[in-house]
Amino acid sequence: MKAHDGMYIGGAWRPAATADTIAVVNPADEQVIGHVPAGTAQDVDTAVRAARAAFPAWAATAPAERAALIAALRDQLVARKDEIAETITAELGAPLPFSQMVHAGVPVLVAGSYAELAATYAFEEKVGNSTVYAEPVGVVGAITPWNYPLHQVVAKVAPALAAGCTVVLKPAEDTPLTAQLFAEAVDAAGIPAGVFNLVTGVGPVAGQALAEHPGVDLVSFTGSTAVGRQIGATAGAAIKQVALELGGKSANVILPSADLAKAVNVGVANVMGNSGQTCSAWTRMLVHRDRYEEAVELAQAAVAKYVPGERVGPLVNAKQQARVRGYIEKGIEEGARLVAGGPEAPLAAGYYVRPTVFADVTPEMTIAQEEIFGPVLAILPYEDEEDALRIANGTVYGLAGAVWAATPEEAVAFARRMDTGQVDINGGRFNPLAPFGGYKQSGVGRELGSHGLTEYLQTKSLQF
Ligand code: NAD
Repeated sequence: MKAHDGMYIGGAWRPAATADTIAVVNPADEQVIGHVPAGTAQDVDTAVRAARAAFPAWAATAPAERAALIAALRDQLVARKDEIAETITAELGAPLPFSQMVHAGVPVLVAGSYAELAATYAFEEKVGNSTVYAEPVGVVGAITPWNYPLHQVVAKVAPALAAGCTVVLKPAEDTPLTAQLFAEAVDAAGIPAGVFNLVTGVGPVAGQALAEHPGVDLVSFTGSTAVGRQIGATAGAAIKQVALELGGKSANVILPSADLAKAVNVGVANVMGNSGQTCSAWTRMLVHRDRYEEAVELAQAAVAKYVPGERVGPLVNAKQQARVRGYIEKGIEEGARLVAGGPEAPLAAGYYVRPTVFADVTPEMTIAQEEIFGPVLAILPYEDEEDALRIANGTVYGLAGAVWAATPEEAVAFARRMDTGQVDINGGRFNPLAPFGGYKQSGVGRELGSHGLTEYLQTKSLQF
């Protein structure tokens, strides 16, 4: 795998402040595939200065020109699709078809949507005797996780650039090669020097330095609730804008009138995709008591198709593998019924976990409350709709979810009562324009679409 030994700052690859590096490991075979620089506070400072220097000119660029450059960036992502998919498969371990379709495919849609929004958004509006201007917030510090190495980056950088902000990105230490490829795409698209900057490094050093830097006006973070809480507190103390996309424990609510087989099959696929490393995954399946055993059997049959090393990749690293196996042991210990999978590693090498399904899960069990971030599904029975709603809303999270019913109207009536940011109705399709983000402890702010754009804007009103 190609790896740069520098940081992309101010439009060029520059040597890092120290010679320390991070080894990048292929989680499917545990082999080292490259090294990237471990950035320090000094590298972060150099990058923030470059972003500050580039900000006034970029903010003053006409929206149509920013739109054209974001469209060029999208085209560069399209041109690099195969290289992006292979890189994500190498550093995340995702099966190649999934990398091609989802990991390399979705960011193209998101970048395309912001090329359009930059051109069409009303950055200036008349309201009575006032003119309201939407102006860029300034320099953005973006901190991203490894689970969707390119999507998480594009979901922050594309709207920030569309708004007229400049960016310093600190990507996850497990997947920095994809971020380097993204920097190459930015460079090839002709985006001016300093508008986008990349500092690779570990969270508590480079990430923390970025979140605390006084030259950063807005911190946009996606990752664990624990780190998000810390970043939120730091930003609060500095009275700095912050967007947090955190964990989830989303409910897949199958109402009695639903097509049970379809709801269960799509539900299982949703959890097993990306080896369960999806913050919005529907990790709790809620089924009416009358159809419960039927649903458990359907799930058991569906999960058998997810063979580790074939259709299911490994987890990203040994720590996540140990963590997820620990949750499976906890589920057994607390009395849930294991109907597929288990804590044993399925393959001799690689950070694989067996696709696992638990039945007879009660709402208070650890596996029904905490984000596992692995291929583990919990199936919970409910007595009636009110019970289902209580269970669905009964966690600290509220990121996503699904409702299945005979008619969309019935499903919508239930979905409107869920404390969650996004709900798929009878298997709704991904929409890059739909706002995504959490209620409760799943986060603050929204990504994607025009709501994602407004995160990077502040308003000024002039009265006449
Ligand atoms: P993490 O929160 O530690 O890492 C996310 C990003 O934050 C990385 O870029 C990391 O380098 C950075 N970071 C870490 N500590 C930091 C600090 N003190 N200051 C600034 N930045 C810092 O997540 P993780 O350890 O990789 O994963 C742990 C758990 O987080 C997972 O099991 C999962 O539950 C959750 N997670 C959620 C998402 C999501 O999409 N919401 C993504 C990844 C992980």
